[in-house]
Formats: sequence, structure tokens, C-alpha cells
Amino acid sequence: MAVFNQAEFDNHEQVVFCSDEASGLKAIIAVHNTNLGPAVGGCRMWDYAKDEDAVYDVLRLSKGMTYKNAVARLPFGGGKSVIIGDAKKIKSEQLFRAFGRQLERLNGSYYSAEDVNITCDDVALMNKETNYVLGLEGKSGNPSPFTAYGTFLGIKAALQHQRGHQDFSGIKVAVQGLGAVAYGLCKHLAEAGAQLFVTDINQDSVERVVNDFGATSVGIDEIYDLDVDVYAPCALGATVNDETIPRLKATIIAGCANNQLAQSRHGEVLREKGILYAPDYVINAGGIINVYYETAPQGYSEAASNKHVEGIYDTLTEIFARSEKEQKSTHLIADELAQEIIKNGL
Ligand code: NAD
Repeated sequence: MAVFNQAEFDNHEQVVFCSDEASGLKAIIAVHNTNLGPAVGGCRMWDYAKDEDAVYDVLRLSKGMTYKNAVARLPFGGGKSVIIGDAKKIKSEQLFRAFGRQLERLNGSYYSAEDVNITCDDVALMNKETNYVLGLEGKSGNPSPFTAYGTFLGIKAALQHQRGHQDFSGIKVAVQGLGAVAYGLCKHLAEAGAQLFVTDINQDSVERVVNDFGATSVGIDEIYDLDVDVYAPCALGATVNDETIPRLKATIIAGCANNQLAQSRHGEVLREKGILYAPDYVINAGGIINVYYETAPQGYSEAASNKHVEGIYDTLTEIFARSEKEQKSTHLIADELAQEIIKNGL
């Protein structure tokens, strides 16, 4: 299996393969970069078809956390972990405690948290063996409202850049996915006067947003064809792709979903079409910013967290301006900004 010479390896500082016979734990912890501080990134549980897929996933995600944390101007490096196996079958206290002991061995160079298939309860079990975990119940709390606020501010920054105003009246926004983050986003948008067009595979979630915010319900696939100003992907990754881009009438793409571009080249396709894309890891950093305040020397403060989240507006404004000036897509500018911060410090 290629490790050092695969593109995703990208000079990872440390990659640890862990196992524990008694609990059946098989996990990989990847520490990409600790220039700005200890690596922070969640733990994902997934039933990978091959070990190679788990390696690829953890390396890709951990590098992504380095960039996300840097652009959010957090004193965190980037890391991620994966536990290999079916979440419906392998979860046990023994397994999470064994994983916690592995975290403890890294002596604080990596802090773990929730990600796909890992709940607050699972992290609490890791916490029985180590303090190198974040996002515990009763600390910084649910990150989603902070992600929603940051995403709303990101849409505002995009409007300001593209249209020269931040007035949401008459602005039509298509919101795809109406989960924890999108509900809060819809609330901000509706209060600001935007007109909402929404979809979700879960009908109850649709009804709630229709009833609470006067949104218009649209079909799952119809969301790409609407005559709207903003497309806000808030469910799945890779929805900006060769099939959907020609259908989009929105001139702004700004939502909370991770990995929105199917491939990096789609960022350039958007720029050529005059569609302003708010890079996903910049606009959706509100949640990780809030988690940071759990570790802040002065203790957790919601006000301080919100103030930091408001910086997302300025960061996106800077990225949009540089993208225009340098005639380069916004996601490449975001990567460059991250690399500058990682190299030069916060
Ligand atoms: P969630 O699970 O609460 O919501 C996702 C919603 O998408 C669900 O309501 C689901 O029914 C819906 N959905 C799934 N497939 C769909 C489809 N094909 N079409 C329409 N709707 C579909 O998740 P969330 O916490 O709100 O996160 C949403 C996205 O934002 C995810 O990509 C997540 O990784 C990302 N994100 C979340 C946070 C956070 O703070 N929660 C932070 C950063 C990034």
C-alpha cells in the first residue's frame, strides 16, 4: 500500500495504526500538521471496504482540518482519526476506552471529537481514559447554531461582494438539506427577509421549515433548477459537479456541507461561469470555532465564540477579493491563505 508517496500524505507529521485485540479496535490516527497548535479533528467510524480506503480517508480529512483550523484562525493544527468497522455492530465501552488509551499515548499532539457515527456518548467513553478529547456534553454544547450563524454571515459576505449590498429582501435562497445546521440558517435568512426554497429527504424537516419560516417546499432534484440567487448545499458533499453546474441559475453557492465540489477543477468551472463559491471549509467553521472556546484560557464564552465566528465574514471577503484580483478560483485562494497562515502563524 502506498503511503508516503500518495498525494494525500502531504507531509503528515505522524500516522498511527492502532489495534486492541480484546475489544477488536482497529483505528488510524493521522496528525497532519501541528505548526499552529495541537491537531484537532473528529473521529469517524466507517466500515471501509479496504484498509487502503481508511488510510486515504483519514489522510484527506486530517489535511482538511489543518486548512480549516488555520483559516478559522484557531491555535489548532489538523488531525483526524478513523475507527474501522460497522457502527451498528462494533461499538462497545471497551473499544472506545481502548481508543482513548491510544489518544493518551499521543500525549496531546492530537485531540479527538465527534464525526460521522461517533456520538457525544462515545467520546465520553474515550474520556474515561484520556483528556485529549473535545466536544463533550455540557462543555461548549451543540456546534450547529454556530455553524449556521457563520454560514449566514458567509452568504451575506457573498452578497456584498457580488451585488454590493446585504439586503436580503427579494433574495431567493435554495436550501438543500434541513438538518441541525440548515434549520438555524433558514431562521437567520427568514429573519433577514430572504425567500426560501427548501428540500430534504425527510418530510418532517421540510414541514417544520415551511411552517416556521414560510419556506416553499421543492423536489429533491428540482433544487438544482430553481431560478434563485443562492444555492446553499447543507446536506451532502459533491453536489457541485458536471451534472449540476450547467443546471444552476444561482450566482452564489454558499452552504454548510463539507466537500461541496465533486472535484477541485469544479471550482474553476464556477469562476468561469461567474458563480461565486464560498469555500466550504471557510464558511462552515463556526462549529469548530465554538469547540475551541471550550479550551480557551479564559474559559468558555458564547459571546467570545460568536465574535470569532463573525470573522468568517471578513475571511470570505478577503478570499473573494483576492480571487477576483488574481483571477483564480476561491477554493484555491482559500488553500493559499491557509498555507500562508500555517507557515507564518496566526
Ligand atoms: P444533519 O444530519 O442534521 O442534516 C443533514 C440533512 O440533510 C438531514 O435532514 C437529511 O435528511 C438531509 N439530506 C440527506 N440527504 C439528502 C438529499 N439527498 N437531499 C436533501 N436532503 C438530504 O447534519 P448537519 O449537522 O446539519 O450538517 C449538514 C452538513 O454540514 C453536513 O455536510 C456536515 O458535514 C456539515 N457540517 C456540519 C457542522 C455542524 O456544526 N453540525 C459543521 C461543519 C460542517
